Amino acid sequence: MRFGYSETCLDHDTGDRHPENPDRLRAIREGLKRKHGIEYVEGDPASREAVAAVHDDDYVDEVESFCESGGGNWDPDTVASDGTWAAALAAAGQAEWAAEQALAGEGGRNTPFALGRPPGHHAVEDDAMGFCFVNNAAVAAQSAIDAGDAERVAIFDWDVHHGNGTQDIFYERGDVFYASIHEEGLYPGTGDAAETGRGDGADTTLNASLGAGAGDADYLAVVERTVNPAIERFDPDLLLVSAGFDAHRHDPISRMRVSTEGYALMTDRMRALAERTGAGLAFVLEGGYGLDTLSAGVAVVHETFDGRPPIDPDGEPADATEPVIEDLRSRFDL
Ligand code: ZN
Repeated sequence: MRFGYSETCLDHDTGDRHPENPDRLRAIREGLKRKHGIEYVEGDPASREAVAAVHDDDYVDEVESFCESGGGNWDPDTVASDGTWAAALAAAGQAEWAAEQALAGEGGRNTPFALGRPPGHHAVEDDAMGFCFVNNAAVAAQSAIDAGDAERVAIFDWDVHHGNGTQDIFYERGDVFYASIHEEGLYPGTGDAAETGRGDGADTTLNASLGAGAGDADYLAVVERTVNPAIERFDPDLLLVSAGFDAHRHDPISRMRVSTEGYALMTDRMRALAERTGAGLAFVLEGGYGLDTLSAGVAVVHETFDGRPPIDPDGEPADATEPVIEDLRSRFDL
């Protein structure tokens, strides 16, 4: 794969013992060290205009000056330093780069993956939250649309948390489809199946909220029976994966049971979906807080594009997953 990466993203300092810290990117790089076919590219940072296309101007001013004056706790979880704004622009810029590459036809072994931090999917139009300041995937989607490179963008978010920010930004938009699989009851508490979009955005938001303990078979069943057919019908030009790795069974902050292989399986299904729809495919890093599982997750996404076939899961989805799937299939007429 080709990875969008900037050292500037290491300058976002969240202090000691914060789970979202620069070691995450270092661990990913270390995990990719002995793999072949890796290329790092540094995309340009996002412009203020690109960020302000999905965030309020006043919020952009406020967070920029907050960082300039040294940062601190934006909220109890969301911490900024003097390097945070530049890191956030760099991270959003890597996401834009990934989308551009995908839309220019780069796929297969050249599939782009933006390795930025801070992550983005909790950042709403006018606020930072959940470790996120700029919504990287949203900036990438909007920039692709504004550049005329894509008319329709789908975002599949497999991070264990619901991407409330991405959902909110595009909730009334018919040109961006947002789909999420997340752990029920976890931060930020949004992402109910009944949240399906509004106005022009009716039926362009799909939320699969799964009970704690869901694993590979559950995720795969949701992808194959709801996310994929819904996105296939939407027929995007660009498919972005908001790729967090915190649903891993050994991640410290969730109770989901996805294995490293589960990420290979979802990657494989996204690749097939992109092929069927003719969409460009790009990955954007979100969360993932176990350094070993995070680096293994990113590495297995790479290996899947490098030709390693994924292995189907043992076992069946949990009994609690079937009603979630049936409910979504009926809501979306699948
Ligand atoms: Zn997360």
